[in-house]
Amino acid sequence: MNDELDAAIDQAAAVIAASRHVVALVGAGMSAESGIPTFRGKEGIWTKHGEPDLRDYDRFREDPKGWWEQRMKPSPAMNELAAALAEAVPNEGHFALKEMEDRGSLQAIITQNIDNMHQIAGSTNIIEIHGNRTKLRCTVCSNRWPLDEFPIDELPPSCPDCGGIVKGDTVMFGEPIPREVLDECIEQTARCDCMLLIGTSAVVYPAAQFPVDVLRAGGALIEINPEDTPLSNVSQLVIRAGSGTALPMILERLKEKGDS
Ligand SMILES: [Zn+2]
Repeated sequence: MNDELDAAIDQAAAVIAASRHVVALVGAGMSAESGIPTFRGKEGIWTKHGEPDLRDYDRFREDPKGWWEQRMKPSPAMNELAAALAEAVPNEGHFALKEMEDRGSLQAIITQNIDNMHQIAGSTNIIEIHGNRTKLRCTVCSNRWPLDEFPIDELPPSCPDCGGIVKGDTVMFGEPIPREVLDECIEQTARCDCMLLIGTSAVVYPAAQFPVDVLRAGGALIEINPEDTPLSNVSQLVIRAGSGTALPMILERLKEKGDS
């Protein structure tokens, strides 16, 4: 078993070292390793507290003031998530990705997570498909601000630059992914010749499309996931381990290669 893992790690490091543009596509599995609860699944927040309102974005557009008033009085599910997020710290996998970026072995991270862990770990080229829970965003000009630096003295708050209504940066149910975020994902995918699929089954669009596009263009997929996913069969390499285990091992191999 360990031999098998070692061999897969060796091969992954070799493929990454030979690639020009490596992109990590990250999902909830990586956050779960940092103690952040997932939404679905056995211990999922929605499994325990019920599914969220699928009309969330419509409700926001119909009544932004009412939406903000509700945000100020979070539900038990949101309180549980907020408490877990306040405790969470990046895991060894997040730090390994940061070091891979520093070494030029990783060009971008596309994450479906909203928890800010990659920023805390020090990564810089991060594209957040579903936004970032620690930020606010203008619905008109898409400017973003850290939550704790934005004074909220009226509801809904308005953008100091264009006067547009400001909302949480996290993408709601029914809300389109901001255009510039999607464009950046598409550009990164087009340049990518090796995509790391980390803790994601990538069954939710638009993330589901990126590995397919890399594969079509002749690029390699490397899956890092303790569990089987629909992408396992089409991945060139599958590493059956958590990101906190596998990524530091890959980083070590890359360092050895760099030094030899
Ligand atoms: Zn604005």
